[in-house]
Amino acid sequence: MQRLQAFKYELRPDGQQERQMRRFAGSCRFVYNKGLALQKERYERGEKKLGYAGLCKLLTEWRNSAETAWLADAPVHPLQQALKDLERAYSNFFAKRADFPRFKKKGQRDSFRYPDPKQIKLDQGNSRIFLPKLGWLRYRNSREVLGTVRNVTVSQSCGKWFVSIQTEREVEQPVPQATTAVGIDMGVIRFATLSDGTFYAPLNSFKRHETALRKAQQAMSRKTKFSNNWKKAKARVQRIHSRIGNARRDFLHKTSTAISQNHAMVCIEDLQVRNISRSAAGTTEQPGRNVRAKSGLNKSILDQGWFEFRRQLDYKLAWQGGWLVAVPPQNTSRSCPCCGHVSADNRQTQARFACVECGFEENADVVGAINVLRAGHARFACEVSDAVGSPAAGTHRSDSGAAQCHP
Ligand SMILES: [Zn+2]
Repeated sequence: MQRLQAFKYELRPDGQQERQMRRFAGSCRFVYNKGLALQKERYERGEKKLGYAGLCKLLTEWRNSAETAWLADAPVHPLQQALKDLERAYSNFFAKRADFPRFKKKGQRDSFRYPDPKQIKLDQGNSRIFLPKLGWLRYRNSREVLGTVRNVTVSQSCGKWFVSIQTEREVEQPVPQATTAVGIDMGVIRFATLSDGTFYAPLNSFKRHETALRKAQQAMSRKTKFSNNWKKAKARVQRIHSRIGNARRDFLHKTSTAISQNHAMVCIEDLQVRNISRSAAGTTEQPGRNVRAKSGLNKSILDQGWFEFRRQLDYKLAWQGGWLVAVPPQNTSRSCPCCGHVSADNRQTQARFACVECGFEENADVVGAINVLRAGHARFACEVSDAVGSPAAGTHRSDSGAAQCHP
């Protein structure tokens, strides 16, 4: 089984290298924005968009023209990768997966990517990596890089520079150590409740840091823009943002690791978080209903990173030899797991489930998780019968949302 994995380290550049990296990231941003402006003009004139090859041809012209000759100082592959990213942003927009691509701003996710492993040298023994036009860069070697290098991304966050090394390696087809199947109910009060009764507290990292963030933002707004004190205040705001991000990532990883190690099959509700977000705002002609309540819920959902959690569960289960099953959310909170009676009356309060037909009582989230598990078993049974005769059908993947089985 082929395994792709990224290894990320903090870089320890010298002053010259840091200036270069900032310049390269700026050049990539410039190329991306210039390409985007051009595509926008063509779009408004009703012309067809330029393909990646067409953009690359223009890039050569820009690098050779006197006006933007400084572009030639940056390595050419990362510049081309910026155009590739633009191309992807465009196709995501036309496939209705994303909004119209936006212009990149300085200091927001500054990064550039080296796609050619032949130009990259990794010297783990001396904790250094060679990148074109930057030379040997030292990094904080916190763990071993496994596999062969495929590409490298350099990025900046809160004034620190990082290198992310993407590798590929062959690993043995894993045999799941766990044998149990479990259903998950995702919620706002409890982040995740399992059908066996265990649950994980909400993350709400944003709420915890919200006060600190608000104060820092207020302090920043009182400063004269672009003054030294304003820059200091801004750095503080960014630090709090990155702390929130780190806490969230840590929580999601710990939770998804624990669940994927303890269970072979995990069933989860296939919530379309994106759709909920859309419907809450509505349009100017047709404002959404309950905008306030819904956007509050959305904030919680997005705050807790449900999508990211699901993505992690998916690949971690695959690494362990298990699989993730996504089931459509139908009556999972209103069906009785005991007698099958479906009624909104079963759910008297948010927290308590009591069947009006047979009297079965349980925590509402646990009931939801049990129903998700049942739906997952049903779904899995038909997937298996569909694949009769080809037991090694491999992995079905559909990012569109429907069923995700990895038998
Ligand atoms: Zn019942």
